[in-house]
Amino acid sequence: MSEETIAAIATPPGRGGVGIIRISGPQVRRIILEICGAELAPRRARLHRLTDARGDAIDDGLLLFFPGPNSFTGEDVLEFQGHGGPVVMDMALQRFLQLGARVAMPGEFTQRAFLNDKLDLAQAEAIADLIDAGSKDAARAATRSLEGEFSRHVNQLARQCLELRMHIEAAIDFPEEEIDFLSDQRLLAQMQAMVDAAAETLRRANRGRVLRDGIEVVLAGPPNVGKSSLMNAIAGRESAIVTDVAGTTRDMLREYVELDGLPVHLVDTAGLRESADVVEAEGIRRAARAMEDADIVLAISDAASVTPINGLPDHDKVIHVHNKVDLLHESINATVDGIVMVSAKTGQGLDGLLARIRDKVMQANGNERSESDFTARTRHIDALHRFDTELQHARKALFERAEGELAAEHLRYAHDALGSITGKVSADDLLGEIFSSFCIGK
Ligand code: GDP
Repeated sequence: MSEETIAAIATPPGRGGVGIIRISGPQVRRIILEICGAELAPRRARLHRLTDARGDAIDDGLLLFFPGPNSFTGEDVLEFQGHGGPVVMDMALQRFLQLGARVAMPGEFTQRAFLNDKLDLAQAEAIADLIDAGSKDAARAATRSLEGEFSRHVNQLARQCLELRMHIEAAIDFPEEEIDFLSDQRLLAQMQAMVDAAAETLRRANRGRVLRDGIEVVLAGPPNVGKSSLMNAIAGRESAIVTDVAGTTRDMLREYVELDGLPVHLVDTAGLRESADVVEAEGIRRAARAMEDADIVLAISDAASVTPINGLPDHDKVIHVHNKVDLLHESINATVDGIVMVSAKTGQGLDGLLARIRDKVMQANGNERSESDFTARTRHIDALHRFDTELQHARKALFERAEGELAAEHLRYAHDALGSITGKVSADDLLGEIFSSFCIGK
């Protein structure tokens, strides 16, 4: 338990009907006694006039007392719900500071909840993800993680891993009861089950990461094929510079749209052609890098004069698009040989293009979007990959080389990787890094 009592304005800065100050720590009961002259009944709202040290009124509001350990932080918590003006909130906060609290650091309430075992790390991160969610699906995924669904999967894997470790380490410690690793089918099956479960968790976490961070769609192609126009058509508003002078889109323009609840970042690149112009050459270099990093690349050509596009990345993430079909004389199908035919000008084929983008994203992340995805961060995905790699090493060591000790060592690393997701085995610097990205009052 922490020695210090912390306080912060928990509602966003600015004006609002209600503003909430949250106070947590061992001084809470004494602070209540000082301002009310009596104890407060737990979890019962009480109307109270908050006054300053001289007895002048600051605000009338509600006081709510949550005695630990049944509170968000696990400590005694007091909430003051007053009028949400910046000045009155600040005066109220100053009063609580005078009474012995200190200003909370970003994420400190959630950090205390974690330290008092009210939440694990993945759940704590889900709080931030829920608050920052940019779409309904992302919010639902965050809620699922917050309720502990992701952690349950990770803990289940960790338990299986631990059982296996115990089994193998016992076999090493008591060699007289020698186990023949190579022929132990049960062990092999157990390991395979873990590999499969990890792969499924990884798929769901990956979809969660896509929901949280969104995908990046890069529009690439020679100048004047209509990249900027297409981006505008998709974004539904005029924000990119559109002009018929070749090479005007020197830097990359970004747009944010939502496709069926999926956050999509559209990136318009400079024309991908050789150029003597230094600025534009830099633009071209950046475009090439953007294509490498993209989740999806729209390779755009002019339908009337198709030229091959150089430097396209991985076939899997490329969608070929022919624009300006309105200029063709013959009528055209929506897709020809897998190429999507569109007109940025008339909007023809745009819905088909969006559907193709959605399909590709789903394909890349394991078919259908599922109701059971949970929010996840790159940190979690990396840990799951690490788990998988260590598991593969352990399997090789055990069944190909019969090296029990080496296998046990890899399983230990695998176990640690899972622990880093929920915070069961975590370095302090990792904790600091996670909580410092929170805002104050959380
Ligand atoms: P970018 O250089 O690839 O970004 O191309 P722009 O979007 O700047 O477009 C180049 C020119 O083609 C502009 O004059 C646009 O108005 C025109 N354009 C873009 N898309 C279409 C389309 O679908 N049909 C027609 N007819 N013109 C288009």
